Amino acid sequence: MSQRMQQGQPMIILGEDSQRTSGQDAQSMNITAGKAVAEAVRTTLGPKGMDKMLVDSSGQVVVTNDGVTILKEMDIDHPAANMIVEVSETQETEVGDGTTTAVVIAGELLDQAEDLLESDVHATTIAQGYRQAAEKAKEVLESKAIEVTEDDRETLIKIAATAMTGKGAESAKDLLAELVVDSVLAVQDDDSIDTDNVSVEKVVGGSINNSELVEGVIVDKERVDENMPYAVEDANVAILDDALEVRETEIDAEVNVTDPDQLQQFLDQEEKQLKEMVDTLVDVGADVVFVGDGIDDMAQHYLAKEGILAVRRAKSSDLKRLARATGGRVVSNLDDIEEDDLGFAGSVAQKDIGGDERIFVEDVEDAKSVTLILRGGTEHVVDELERAIDDSLGVVRTTLEDGKVLPGGGAPETELSLTLREFADSVGGREQLAVEAFAEALDIIPRTLAENAGLDPIDSLVDLRSRHDGGEFAAGLDAYTGDIIDMEEEGVVEPLRVKTQAIESATEAAVMILRIDDVIAAGDLSGGQTGDDDDEGGAPGGMGGMGGMGGMGGMGGMGGMGGMGGMGGAM
Ligand code: ADP
Ligand code: MG
Repeated sequence: MSQRMQQGQPMIILGEDSQRTSGQDAQSMNITAGKAVAEAVRTTLGPKGMDKMLVDSSGQVVVTNDGVTILKEMDIDHPAANMIVEVSETQETEVGDGTTTAVVIAGELLDQAEDLLESDVHATTIAQGYRQAAEKAKEVLESKAIEVTEDDRETLIKIAATAMTGKGAESAKDLLAELVVDSVLAVQDDDSIDTDNVSVEKVVGGSINNSELVEGVIVDKERVDENMPYAVEDANVAILDDALEVRETEIDAEVNVTDPDQLQQFLDQEEKQLKEMVDTLVDVGADVVFVGDGIDDMAQHYLAKEGILAVRRAKSSDLKRLARATGGRVVSNLDDIEEDDLGFAGSVAQKDIGGDERIFVEDVEDAKSVTLILRGGTEHVVDELERAIDDSLGVVRTTLEDGKVLPGGGAPETELSLTLREFADSVGGREQLAVEAFAEALDIIPRTLAENAGLDPIDSLVDLRSRHDGGEFAAGLDAYTGDIIDMEEEGVVEPLRVKTQAIESATEAAVMILRIDDVIAAGDLSGGQTGDDDDEGGAPGGMGGMGGMGGMGGMGGMGGMGGMGGMGGAM
């Protein structure tokens, strides 16, 4: 090792195009990026949050209020910013709602941390304090949560409705909340709920109020032959992941026919096989058959003659759904089919929906797979409706899984903020400061709810605190009137997991970002120069990665983005 080092010359170990940002520069760069992400979605929070219009490079437009959707559509490039985006994605998969909340909390934790760093509290100390605070927060929420069982339909409907508040679904919230609860209850298994068994069929045209729940499956196909019946009642349904065709020989066989009789014989043979296939279905008693693969013309003819309604090339996901809905089994080889494998549906019918013909399979005994038909005036409306329904399905599922809910409207955050401030005293050391900062950070939720509702955030926070001080855990902000009311009585309730998961992922992401004090970017990040180690100019190169946000350029309304744009210069 080197003389050169001893002479104080840095040894160059990075490639020419690499850029390195260290220490405080790295920290503040990452914090700024993380905060910018939170800022970008903050105005959408709550019942009076605004929507965003996102335009991608091909001109596709999405109008949404949904945190995770906004962040996905924004195509963010900065690595630290992406860690915050991941918070919303985790929230989406774990709970299905609370994606904006999680990101906003993460941003505020970073903001508070920035102040602490400036007062020379070490990042590791902040991380430890934040983790302790998050643990305590979860404990407090667990202990305050209200129990809900699946028999409590009324509460489930309120939970479903709360998740839709402020979204495109708002106008038909009551109807849709009931449909959502019925769907989730229908597809529930003994020990699990998979909301993928609730399919959503979007129909442009008609009013949201005409949305409905079909206890069964809608297959986007038509009957394969027009001589087949349009509708079959009390149908035994065969579900076949196979073809009704004569199997082609595996090897390239050549059939030599020497005279016409032989050819006829050969064709007769094929026809006989197809007839046998149809006979097999008739023998087991099938009235309707869904086939994953093709159906030979001749087989179609025989099926029609038997009065069987057949559908070909059904998707394998549809076959599975049909099996769940009708209580049948997907049979992968026709030769193995037995009567037992058939499902049953009171009605199988080809109907028109939004100008398309589809096969409706309904009136089933115990539909374990259902379909929500969502109607709305335009494509954008139904798309946003679907996202609201997704959130709503998620919270009902989560509630049934955990059995615990909390009042909304900023009630839990206010309570935590107060409890954590007390808890901080017992922590001691410099971590106490971090716990206090964490408590302060949680105020961002009620504050934002107030701001977005056009209320004075300070007044609202003061009122909220005094009510919580007086022991009213459920006191929250009524975003419509500005009053502080009992959210539980008002019916604004959310699953416990929305909050615990949001706090957990927000804390993890914030801590991870804070602990980084060195950013080494390999390769060519546009715009930066490869300066000396102590050249401040090294940083903007890293920020060049934020170019993704630039795609949103020209959208004056997106205040959050403006903040991002300014960043390169700030470094
Ligand atoms: P997220 O993506 O975090 O779910 P939302 O825009 O759905 O964001 O807003 C959720 C927040 O709005 C929660 O804090 C919830 O308690 C609050 N909220 C929902 N309905 C009401 C209401 N009627 N009054 C006040 N706050 C509400
Ligand atoms: Mg929500």
